[in-house]
Amino acid sequence: MLSLLLIVLAAIGLVEVMRREAGATAALAATGLPGLLGIVLAAPVAAVLLLLATLAIAAGGLPALRRRWLTPRLFTRFRRVAPRVSDTERVALEAGSVSWDGELFTGRPDWQRLLAYRDDGLSDAERAFLEHQCTEVAGLCNGWDVARERADLPEAAWDYLKRERFFGMIIPEEYGGLGFSAKAQSAVLQKLVVNETLMISVGVPNSLGPGELLLKYGTDEQKNHYLPRLADGREIPCFGLTGPRAGSDATSLPDVGVVVRREVDGESVLGIELTFEKRWITLAPIATVVGLAFRLFDPDHLLGEESDLGITCALIPRDTPGMAIGRRHHPIGSPFMNGPIVGRDVFVPLDRIIGGPAMAGQGWRMLVECLSVGRCITLPSGAAGVGRYAAGWSGGFTRIRRQFNVPVAEMEGVQEALARLTAHAYIAQAAVYQTANLIDHGVKPAVPSAILKSQLTEFQRRILADAMDVHGGKAVTLGPRNYLGLAWSAVPVSITVEGANIMTRNLMVFGQGAIRCHPYVLEELAAADNDDLDAFDRAFFGHAGLIVGNAARAFTQALGLGGPRVPFDELAAPYAREVSRLSAGFGLCADAAMASLGSSLKKREMLSARLGDVLANLYLLSMLLKQWHDGTSVEHEAALLHYSCRTLLHRTEQAFVELFDNLPSRALGRSLSAIVMPLGRRWKTPEDTLTREIAHAISTATPLRDKLLAGTWDTRKEGDVDNPLARYKALLADYPRAEPLYRTLNKAYAGGELPAEALHPEQRIDAGLAAGLIGEEDAAFLHAFEAEVLDMLTVDDFAFDAFAGRPASASHPDVA
Ligand SMILES: Cc1cc2nc3c(=O)[nH]c(=O)nc-3n(C[C@H](O)[C@H](O)[C@H](O)COP(=O)(O)OP(=O)(O)OC[C@H]3O[C@@H](n4cnc5c(N)ncnc54)[C@H](O)[C@@H]3O)c2cc1C
Repeated sequence: MLSLLLIVLAAIGLVEVMRREAGATAALAATGLPGLLGIVLAAPVAAVLLLLATLAIAAGGLPALRRRWLTPRLFTRFRRVAPRVSDTERVALEAGSVSWDGELFTGRPDWQRLLAYRDDGLSDAERAFLEHQCTEVAGLCNGWDVARERADLPEAAWDYLKRERFFGMIIPEEYGGLGFSAKAQSAVLQKLVVNETLMISVGVPNSLGPGELLLKYGTDEQKNHYLPRLADGREIPCFGLTGPRAGSDATSLPDVGVVVRREVDGESVLGIELTFEKRWITLAPIATVVGLAFRLFDPDHLLGEESDLGITCALIPRDTPGMAIGRRHHPIGSPFMNGPIVGRDVFVPLDRIIGGPAMAGQGWRMLVECLSVGRCITLPSGAAGVGRYAAGWSGGFTRIRRQFNVPVAEMEGVQEALARLTAHAYIAQAAVYQTANLIDHGVKPAVPSAILKSQLTEFQRRILADAMDVHGGKAVTLGPRNYLGLAWSAVPVSITVEGANIMTRNLMVFGQGAIRCHPYVLEELAAADNDDLDAFDRAFFGHAGLIVGNAARAFTQALGLGGPRVPFDELAAPYAREVSRLSAGFGLCADAAMASLGSSLKKREMLSARLGDVLANLYLLSMLLKQWHDGTSVEHEAALLHYSCRTLLHRTEQAFVELFDNLPSRALGRSLSAIVMPLGRRWKTPEDTLTREIAHAISTATPLRDKLLAGTWDTRKEGDVDNPLARYKALLADYPRAEPLYRTLNKAYAGGELPAEALHPEQRIDAGLAAGLIGEEDAAFLHAFEAEVLDMLTVDDFAFDAFAGRPASASHPDVA
């Protein structure tokens, strides 16, 4: 009995030491002291077992001992099995920086570190731009006109965008740009996404492309020439990486540049002769300068020893002889400017290389280093903005659309879709805003950029599917009055570009995250590369401590023991503790998967995707909690927070379960399940009461609706194109007065108090007035309300031969 007591005491002590990763000395004390006590108290079984355990811990845990016999053996083995990291992968791994994503890998995220990224909001100038310039340009673009009538933005919109320097948001003021923060860029794109073509036309020049590459790597001469011209739209840039043979596998591009000497105007010029074929290049049809990625060869060694210099980026002016540019592709749903570029025997001097000849061969590094910021902003902001508009339109439509005598927003089936899309929009907004805030603090979030791109564009697809469903035929019928259908059909564009989602989810998020964010893996690989035994010892045994620590934390916290203290209010704190708990489980599973599958994990993409999903959901949830923490909540927002957190936790647990079920080693799967979820799943899908509350709040004029729709284009002035969101806003403001009147009239009709032939609402209003059920003022009000409702429900029809032809765009006579 005494032996058992001592062993239990030692086990508890050891678990606590593991949970805290307190180190070998503490572990020695945890087993050694009860062992000695066993000798003193004559409990031989406990004494022997515990002292043996103490010896084992000392042999493996004390650096002075293990470095003599254990570490060298482990090091030899590790070097045999460690995955080879290719040069391309290494560049990707070294790009960007690690912040909260790294905390999640530790299994005990330090929430104070996240909260320390203060949110200073937007500057006055940024806010004014959002309210004035963005509103102006949104008012110039009707979706149908842009997408179907002219397949282009109106000329007035292009002029305005250039004049107001929309293309220079990332360019500093000293070069004539706007020099906006990441949060402001995101807010602008969220507002402009009321029209996809408008958003993409503004988003692309401000994302990865000539502007950003020049800013970071350009020579002074290149910067001074191009940046002011890019900022005010005198130059329109595009960036060509993709071609028919190289899509996702972009580094395999077969486009070549050869270093040659040529006579130009009687002078011998050292330059590059280019042959290339690019496709799907956004803005190419109207671009004046092409950023081009190609593989540079120097067979005659005019630059040095190397003959294959590698991927290189250069700027090619549109009118360079040999370049065919101007033809268009037709992206689905949103015909923004996009097209092929073909080059045959194109010659440019060497100083066309971005950054000059010294940057020859550095192109891939340049692209990958720049990718993280733009990828966090452009498409994720588009997704968050779409979420705002879709919630606004869907809430408005479902409130005014009556079937079975009540607004369809009152039907539970519709409420389910409304609440889901609202929550997805809410999460997307928080994730993109808080990640932009990290960027404004100097972080270059490489792994979060893959998370945001893939997860939020999937949210966008889900949001728009729900929005389409609740709109019924209204959104199915294309025409100027359909504000939703084009956005829905444009979804695959966001899913595909900047790293197609399947690849990004399956390969990038965890594949890159596991090595990039892991506290020790990169160090271990570097130690193996550098043949550094001491560095390996530190990294490997730190790693071992992390694994046992994560196992102990995941298990005890799953049993409700020893949850961490988290700096959140009582509403958010339980969710933050869950993030901490599940991040310990994630850390453990990540290590178990890497250890058991080794380099073959790269090919087991379905497992990698599930680990990536765990990381992604925990990341999104953390951003949501930070947003809640930093902001001031409004009525009904608590329901939305609960709903959103539960959705994300449910998804996290689902990914865990699928991982456990599919690990090749069943024993490992079961063991991990027993440690991470010893009591099974905790998180169900959100309760129906939350669904009802959210659906009601988004489909009526509430502070929550106002908050979610903040930053959208929801006004309309003389000369603007129609704005359905502004009209829904007005209708919802009047709805509390209209609804009781509808109810009175419908009740009277059902009770036979009104003539049976009063089938139209207008007839019922007149009949109700005649019967004295409503007064004249109310009748006039309801007539006006109903007329507006009918107009919003109306869909377009066309002449029989209306689709026979389409006028050509006159917006770009200079490049036609
Ligand atoms: C409208 C539009 C605009 C674009 N704009 C530009 C631009 O301005 N500049 C530019 O350079 N490029 C641009 N692109 C190219 C875009 O970035 C590529 O389309 C994208 O990278 C995917 O390549 P792909 O379409 O050839 O797909 P593929 O590479 O053919 O992939 C097909 C499918 O296989 C999946 N897949 C591929 N490899 C893997 C893997 N290892 N694991 C799992 N799944 C995988 C992909 O996820 C995808 O689902 C644009 C494309 C479009 C359609």
